[in-house]
Amino acid sequence: MSASGLRVLIPRAEVASTVTRLAVEISRDYHDKNPLLIGILKGSFVFIADLIRCLDFPLEVDFIRLSSYGSGRQTSGNVRVVQGLRSKLQGRHVLVVEDIVDTGITVAFLIEYLKKKKPASVKLCALLDKPSRRRVPVSIHYLGTAVSDKFVVGYGIDFNEKYRNLPDIYVLEDGQ
Ligand code: 5GP
Ligand code: MG
Repeated sequence: MSASGLRVLIPRAEVASTVTRLAVEISRDYHDKNPLLIGILKGSFVFIADLIRCLDFPLEVDFIRLSSYGSGRQTSGNVRVVQGLRSKLQGRHVLVVEDIVDTGITVAFLIEYLKKKKPASVKLCALLDKPSRRRVPVSIHYLGTAVSDKFVVGYGIDFNEKYRNLPDIYVLEDGQ
């Protein structure tokens, strides 16, 4: 796809090798823990689908949907849960799976929310990180790729619900 305004940032083969590398790291730590992987909707759905197919041990998957009362390109800072979990977290090893950590506000909120449910552990796996944008400190235990302050789409990640279907990760250039 070469629609104007989109520039390939991470080609699909590189995304695939990053996912494989993350799966090796996660396998080493969780192969005997029956972890609960929690994907943050909607942006992480492609990533988590690829990731779990590289994990060859017992695990469970759930999803949570968060809203930050924002639209466009910015997190507003006011996060709430709009679609909750079905799973019991008490005593479970929880791994949050996120597409992008930007300001950190979303995952920082989620990790505190999950900790109140008394899991055995909570860690974070993120495909992309924009460290220059951080406003709240966040530990990313399994990190795919750090990127600069560019707005990205593709591989499940949208702009106004578009571009989730693109297999590569693109930068959406200004003016789109
Ligand atoms: P944070 O709370 O860390 O600022 O925001 C994280 C969320 O903002 C991500 O889960 C994602 O939904 C959205 N986000 C941050 N950067 C980008 C980006 O470059 N492109 C898209 N589409 N969403 C982004
Ligand atoms: Mg998101």
